[in-house]
Amino acid sequence: MKLIHNFKSPNFNDRKSNKIEIIVIHYTALSTLSNSLKYLCSKKNKVSSHYLISQSGKIYSLVSEKKRAWHAGQSYWKGITDINSISIGIELDYSPSEINNKFSLKLNSALIFLLKKIIKKYKIRTENILGHSDIAPYRKIDPGRHFPWQMLENKKLSYRPQIINQLDFNNNLINEWFRKNKFYSIKKKILFMLNFIGYDISLAIKNKIYFNQLIDAYSNHYKIYKNYYYNKKKIFDVIEVHFLNIILTKNKK
Ligand SMILES: [Zn+2]
Repeated sequence: MKLIHNFKSPNFNDRKSNKIEIIVIHYTALSTLSNSLKYLCSKKNKVSSHYLISQSGKIYSLVSEKKRAWHAGQSYWKGITDINSISIGIELDYSPSEINNKFSLKLNSALIFLLKKIIKKYKIRTENILGHSDIAPYRKIDPGRHFPWQMLENKKLSYRPQIINQLDFNNNLINEWFRKNKFYSIKKKILFMLNFIGYDISLAIKNKIYFNQLIDAYSNHYKIYKNYYYNKKKIFDVIEVHFLNIILTKNKK
């Protein structure tokens, strides 16, 4: 698959890090490919991405991977706020409310091709393949609840928490730890675990609306029934498994 180099965005600068660790997936929320190309390549908009993938599966290279494209905006992951400096941004020609409101087969296979290439080149960990809504849950909802994360997980291009055999054992340890540190409510535990996974919890701590947005962002990515107030236990269980996965893989090293 060949990349298309006919369109270039002037919106980039130098990376402040030479390590590329994260891939951020977006959708354009614009109705056509030509609008998206125009938008991402227009100087006055001050936004860009490294790649744009069309509904027909064409991959446009808009900014060199060596440069810092401007796609993440104000964002956060694992304590890092300049996500643009350490990431590659991929825009998808998709809008939930327009004619391009499907993640087409051709778009998906081009995305798979591109992800494989970038992951291999920079040795990016699957848990760092993220959506814009993961790194900016209070501002952004793209790539949205219909984005096929499970397809990427099946191809090992995105992280899926695994059920752990010694779950009971670890459960007790974690529960003990929560008790000692006075994490009594489910909400507090969830926030602690989401922050450990990588999410910015700053706004969700005190505000119910922001808390719901954070749960929505997580649920859209990990495909769980997302209404916290109806399904606290289920959401808690999924996040706990995810959290334990990360602790256990960290300990393995
Ligand atoms: Zn975005």
